[in-house]
Amino acid sequence: MSNAQTRLDAIAREIRDHLPCGFEVCEQATNLVPGEGSAEARVVFVGEAPGASEDRTGRPFVGRAGALLDQLLEEAGLQREDVFITNVVKARPPGNRDPRADEVAHHWPWLEAQVEVIQPRLIVPLGRHALGRFVDGVKITEAHGRVVQREGRDVFPMFHPAAALRNRGLRETLFADARALREAL
Ligand code: URA
Repeated sequence: MSNAQTRLDAIAREIRDHLPCGFEVCEQATNLVPGEGSAEARVVFVGEAPGASEDRTGRPFVGRAGALLDQLLEEAGLQREDVFITNVVKARPPGNRDPRADEVAHHWPWLEAQVEVIQPRLIVPLGRHALGRFVDGVKITEAHGRVVQREGRDVFPMFHPAAALRNRGLRETLFADARALREAL
C-alpha cells in the first residue's frame, strides 16, 4: 500500500472514530462518512454533506444523487476507483438542513488533510454550497463546467447531481460539464 493511501486511511479512521465532540451534527449521525477512492486520484469530488443513505451506510454518494454521479463519472471517462469522493461536512445534518458555519469549520481540516495527501489535478465542488467553500464570490451558474484557479488550486465547479433530480433541465448541463471535465483532464 502506498504511503499516501496509508495516510488517507488514517484520516478516514480518525473521522470514523471522532466522537464524542459536542457537535450535534456529529453526535446525531449514525455514521460519519469520510469519503472514499484512490489516494492517487486526479480528481476529488466534494459534495456538501451526507444524506440519509450515506448516513446509514457510511459511504459517500450512494443514494439517488450518487447514481447520477456514477453516470457523470462515466461521461467524464472516470470510474469511482480513479477518483476520490467526499463532502465538506462528514456527518449528516439532522433533517438534512444546511450545515452551519461552525460545523463546516469543525470538519474543514479533514478535507484539507485529504486534499493535501491526494494532491489532485482538479477539485470538483458539487453545487453552490461546496463551491462557496473553495471559491468566494462566484456563482455556480457562471462558473460551472470550466477551470477556476484559486490559491494555487484548479477548481472545476459543477452543479450538484441532486439539483438535476429536482430540475430535469439541469441534467443536460451536467452531462455537458462532465464532457468538459474529460477535456480538462
Ligand atoms: N449529497 C451530498 O452532498 N453528499 C452525499 O454524500 C450525498 C448526497
